[in-house]
Amino acid sequence: MRRLLLALPFALLPLAVAHAAVEHDHAHDEEHGSLSAHEHGVGRLNAALDGQTLELELESPAMNLVGFEHAASTDADKAKVAAVRAQLEKPLVLFNLPKAAGCVVATQELESPLFGDKPDADDDHDETDKDDHEHHPDHSEIHAHYQFSCSAPGALKTLDLANIFNTFPATQKIQVQLISPSGQQGVEVTAKAAALKF
Ligand SMILES: [Zn+2]
Repeated sequence: MRRLLLALPFALLPLAVAHAAVEHDHAHDEEHGSLSAHEHGVGRLNAALDGQTLELELESPAMNLVGFEHAASTDADKAKVAAVRAQLEKPLVLFNLPKAAGCVVATQELESPLFGDKPDADDDHDETDKDDHEHHPDHSEIHAHYQFSCSAPGALKTLDLANIFNTFPATQKIQVQLISPSGQQGVEVTAKAAALKF
């Protein structure tokens, strides 16, 4: 299998740190520091299947999911953000995990400035919910991190992202890094070819 790994252009990480990768450790350097790197329409998904544990980490420009990246101030914006959040809180549906795999959500974590996550949350200024225009970032992302426990992981044959494209049609492609018992693969997935094999 050594040949396989060498052949993969997306094999950025040694398999030994595969878990760390899905737990965010890799992502702090370039991507998180400056969000100017993100491209509207393009999401990223890290996926790892290890035994009965499936981890999925979706990182998306907020534009792809919500349609804007500023803090929601109008009622319409707030409703849109709430609706998107509710959809992200149903990952079994969103990722179309087959019932036969018996997956349940073990942990899930949603992060975004649009969800009110602020780096200085303990800051006691009361400017937060007012018109603090100077706090508008140029770009905002939404990150969703899920861990599933699957009683029959053998039933996970494909990872089908069609529902993501259907639910969030502003998403044009998703750059997937998948680590599974059969190896590591990097795939760019689109609505027309939305599934990849574990
Ligand atoms: Zn943006």
